[in-house]
Amino acid sequence: MRCFNFAPGPAALPFEVLEVIRDELFDFRGEGASIMEISHRSPAFAKVIGEAETGIRTLLGVPDGYDVLFMQGGGHQQFSAVPLNLLGTRRKADYIVNGTWSRKALKEAQKFCEVNVAALDDGTRAPRQQELRLDPDAAYVYYCDNETVHGVEFDYVPETGGVPLVADMSSNIMTRPVDVSRFGAIWFGAQKNFGIAGLAIALVRQDLIGKAGPACPVMLDWKTYAQSGSLFNTPPVFAIYVSSLVCRWLLQQGGVKEMQRRSALKSGLLYQTIDESEGFYRTRVQKDSRSRMNVTFALRDESLNEPFLAGALERGLKGVKGHRSVGGMRASLYNAVPQEGVQALADYMKEFARRHG
Ligand SMILES: *Cc1c(COP(=O)(O)O)cnc(C)c1O
Repeated sequence: MRCFNFAPGPAALPFEVLEVIRDELFDFRGEGASIMEISHRSPAFAKVIGEAETGIRTLLGVPDGYDVLFMQGGGHQQFSAVPLNLLGTRRKADYIVNGTWSRKALKEAQKFCEVNVAALDDGTRAPRQQELRLDPDAAYVYYCDNETVHGVEFDYVPETGGVPLVADMSSNIMTRPVDVSRFGAIWFGAQKNFGIAGLAIALVRQDLIGKAGPACPVMLDWKTYAQSGSLFNTPPVFAIYVSSLVCRWLLQQGGVKEMQRRSALKSGLLYQTIDESEGFYRTRVQKDSRSRMNVTFALRDESLNEPFLAGALERGLKGVKGHRSVGGMRASLYNAVPQEGVQALADYMKEFARRHG
């Protein structure tokens, strides 16, 4: 039996997507072989990657003048790729640091340039615009739109005064409309809201491509992907296929506006449950920065953590344990997590609090 899956990533996939994968597994659209067994240069695969790119462009309204790049690997490669591609002749970059992933990105960037910490928080909030100490000489401004580990999400797009803005949207892409034109680059790993592990996608303004230095490894240079239609070498074909199906599913469901509506309902229900628990559950995250994707909370009495998780599992509520660096609980409410699953978790939380409160 399938559970309700609140895992942070790899994470739940839409059931309808899994059904298509099952149905197409042995004989992919008349090819007589699976998608994993045919050439990435075949017309059949060209259609798949084409559907993924068109889907992304349609769903996010990506303007002309931006390339959509499909890359091997995940988020960590992009931590290196961002400075390697964007520094150009400049030697400085601004980083907004407010959680695990922006901190990791900062550490990697420090290998390549001088990094100005434009704002700092330890995973409780998204720094406000007026707090940002931006350097006008920075090559770019970097931030993580949704800090997956801490459950902190930006509710605004930072204004940078013309300096290219770069966002890691790995865990909240496709969950609300984005004005891509405000960004120099947006990148995301696929395994949270857009498919499976092994694929990272970047939307990059074309004038920012081609600035990597001669020592940049070819597979980290965005130009490699831009010039080859992301087919320089063998791409992660299965991962791109799954993302093409997620695009199709998102479009059928009503697109990112509909995902925004659903995510507000789902996360609202859990935050309400926490707020109304009279301190039985609490969250460190400030109200204006609460993530719609990763709801983090702790039990007042930590000795109840294990029984809480065991009871959740008994009810088919999986993956609720918090990240090891933060502790407590985390429910990840990506697009593929249905409202009924969140309702079941909220009901369980209330019942558990009544029994142990
Ligand atoms: C998961 C995650 C990453 C890391 O991705 P990997 O593919 O594991 O390297 C980076 N940023 C964010 C926001 C994430 O959620």
